[in-house]
Amino acid sequence: MSRPLLMIPGPIEFTDEVLAAMSLPSPSHVAPEFIAVFGHALKDLRAVFLADESHQPFVIAGSGTLAMDSAIANVVEAGDKVLVVNTGFFSDRMADICRRYGAEVDSLDAAAPGDTLSAEQVAVQLEKADYDLVTITHVDTSTGVLTDVQGITAAAKAAGALVVVDGVCATAGEAMPQQAWGVDVYLTASQKAIGVPPGLALLVASPAALDKWRQRRTPVASYYSDWGYWLPIMNAYEGLSPAYFATPAVNLVLALAVSLRQLLDEGMDAIFARHQLMSDAVKAAIGAMGLGQVPTASAHAAHTLTCPRYPQGVDATMLGYVRDGGAILAGGLHPDIKGDYFRIGHMGAVSRADVLATLGAVESGLRRAGYALEPGIGLAAAQALLG
Ligand SMILES: *Cc1c(COP(=O)(O)O)cnc(C)c1O
Repeated sequence: MSRPLLMIPGPIEFTDEVLAAMSLPSPSHVAPEFIAVFGHALKDLRAVFLADESHQPFVIAGSGTLAMDSAIANVVEAGDKVLVVNTGFFSDRMADICRRYGAEVDSLDAAAPGDTLSAEQVAVQLEKADYDLVTITHVDTSTGVLTDVQGITAAAKAAGALVVVDGVCATAGEAMPQQAWGVDVYLTASQKAIGVPPGLALLVASPAALDKWRQRRTPVASYYSDWGYWLPIMNAYEGLSPAYFATPAVNLVLALAVSLRQLLDEGMDAIFARHQLMSDAVKAAIGAMGLGQVPTASAHAAHTLTCPRYPQGVDATMLGYVRDGGAILAGGLHPDIKGDYFRIGHMGAVSRADVLATLGAVESGLRRAGYALEPGIGLAAAQALLG
């Protein structure tokens, strides 16, 4: 392959089968064949989120930010008290969205970029007020921090709050049995570990989330996001009958159907294990190269991306050299430490070969940037794990 690998935290490398679906002649959104594909994709989406028929999937044209906006627009009303478990850039965005819909927002902030918050810390905060909703960023893409969704959700439920989880950089990469953990709205976007080009907002809502929406005292302030329009559409597609509210992104839905099938054929547990292995290999290699990482402990480092700190004397110029070596990486995103680190995405259908090629490009990029590095030292550490 002559083009560089796209190893950023989304969009990612997509499978050939997914890309082929993107290039099919666009079907009518009410053609029986398309309805059947969409209806099946909705069922598969539940399976990928590990939730049963009691949970409602939504597939809406838009990015991950729309998925966040849609979740909050529907389950939050003006005056609701929201606790944002804040681990970085995307938690700040969630807090802004909640404020936009009139919520009273408390942000419980991780001590520093790279830190997370424990279920115990959240439980202490939950005693201080009567929260209607708790939001969690499963993996904060700006720091590579993984947060304890299971523990925090349990604490929030015990306090009687609904839980919305931003899984945009986690879903289908990090273990996340939505129903078993009791998450009320779990949301993501197509272009991350789900493995479909950007353009679909994906949400799965629990019965409690739907109840909260049904019992609203006020209309949903976002016209496009209103579940009142989307619920009949999703039900119609699943029931194999035509319906229209706003034109679905038909080719993206075809590609989603292919990708969800590929995920389920591999099996969710196998996918989580593969992400863990690729992540361990990348992190071992980065350590062997002598670079630190943004997460302050490996126990809360994400498995979908790695955030290495630049070594002394090296800066973002290095990313151009890595690109010349065959891999496109991302720069820093967290405003407080933006220039100190870079990000390697390794989610989706990422293979052993992709990881080794990327690490080879990182080694050559570092050396070209003037960092003294024994060639192959990182690759050897990765291969020790990958076999
Ligand atoms: C990428 C990302 C988003 C935003 O998704 P867009 O598709 O860029 O709107 C939100 N939250 C997290 C955790 C992300 O990684």
